Amino acid sequence: MTSSDLYPVSRLAAVQEATAKAGLDALLLTPGPDLRYVSGYDAKPLERLTCLVVPASGEPCMVVPRLELPAAEASPASRLGLEFVAWDETDDPYALVAARLGRVAKVGLADRMWAMSSLRFRDALPGAEQVLAGSVLRELRMRKSPAEVAALREAGEAIDAVHRRVPEFLRAGRTEREVGRDIAEAILAAGHATVDFVIVASGPNGASPHHDVSDRVIQAGEPVVVDIGGQLHNGYCSDSTRTYSVGEPPADFAAYYEVLRRAQEAACAAVRPGVSCESVDAAARDVIAEAGYGGYFIHRTGHGIGIETHEEPYIVAGNGEPLEPGHAFSVEPGIYLPGRHGARIEDIVVCTENGGERLNDTPRELVIV
Ligand code: ZN
Ligand code: ZN
Ligand code: ZN
Repeated sequence: MTSSDLYPVSRLAAVQEATAKAGLDALLLTPGPDLRYVSGYDAKPLERLTCLVVPASGEPCMVVPRLELPAAEASPASRLGLEFVAWDETDDPYALVAARLGRVAKVGLADRMWAMSSLRFRDALPGAEQVLAGSVLRELRMRKSPAEVAALREAGEAIDAVHRRVPEFLRAGRTEREVGRDIAEAILAAGHATVDFVIVASGPNGASPHHDVSDRVIQAGEPVVVDIGGQLHNGYCSDSTRTYSVGEPPADFAAYYEVLRRAQEAACAAVRPGVSCESVDAAARDVIAEAGYGGYFIHRTGHGIGIETHEEPYIVAGNGEPLEPGHAFSVEPGIYLPGRHGARIEDIVVCTENGGERLNDTPRELVIV
């Protein structure tokens, strides 16, 4: 897969069209996922302004600090045929953007733009209403192209390869941190560019869904929640959770693990075009609630994934948005018993014409190591 497949040149025109349709005069995209999505440029977020200026009509340009010009020109953004406008250390790059834009009434700022920049834009473009660029980009970013789905599949295979190695690392007597260090190395060895997170949650720590790692020594007979992910060089992210047990797990754990497995299965099976995000959440939640563990499933069922680990659509009650082919998201119900232990099973699922396709495929039964 080349960057022309993943970040097609035609995207910029599609974004301009969507910007006009949304009634915005321009998008101002500083380094982060929105800029990368539109241009392919994985620019460093720095205090010096880099900004892709996308007017609803007319010529887009990329404003860059002069010392970043070689990096910008070497990036996939150079394929777009847009002008690179370099600024020098004593220039005001915000005034430069304002001068290029002329009179504007409403601009979309990259969702992850620093407040430092958004406030400078407020001064440079007085009277211009600021909204999130996400209001324009969300529809496009949610609907993954075949190349994007292929990149997510590649990410899924890479993280699955790491989960297959977890039994080598997980042993009674080691700390979560030691196990986490081995996993982080394996994430890079499997082809990721970065390690985004490594959760190794043993025993009672398993009841904290976003536990990190700690110096706690893993004991025999303990369940361990392992939730890991990274970003491939092409920008696409992986995220998968499996729950392991170091030796035979406690009886009360084994009882709810099977409930969780059925809940995760039910939610994956519910995925198809036209079904709402909240009904996928309900498919998992109903199984867990019927078994009496409803109060212990304390988070939404999932989140979209792409060039960010967490993006739209969110699989949560209240989100009536219907799924469409190309939507990709996690299905990750969990059951958490405070002070005792917890479990979560997480796959990335992509909605296709014929239903959900799971991009992770390691065993979902409890793995006893
Ligand atoms: Zn999470
Ligand atoms: Zn996860
Ligand atoms: Zn997740």
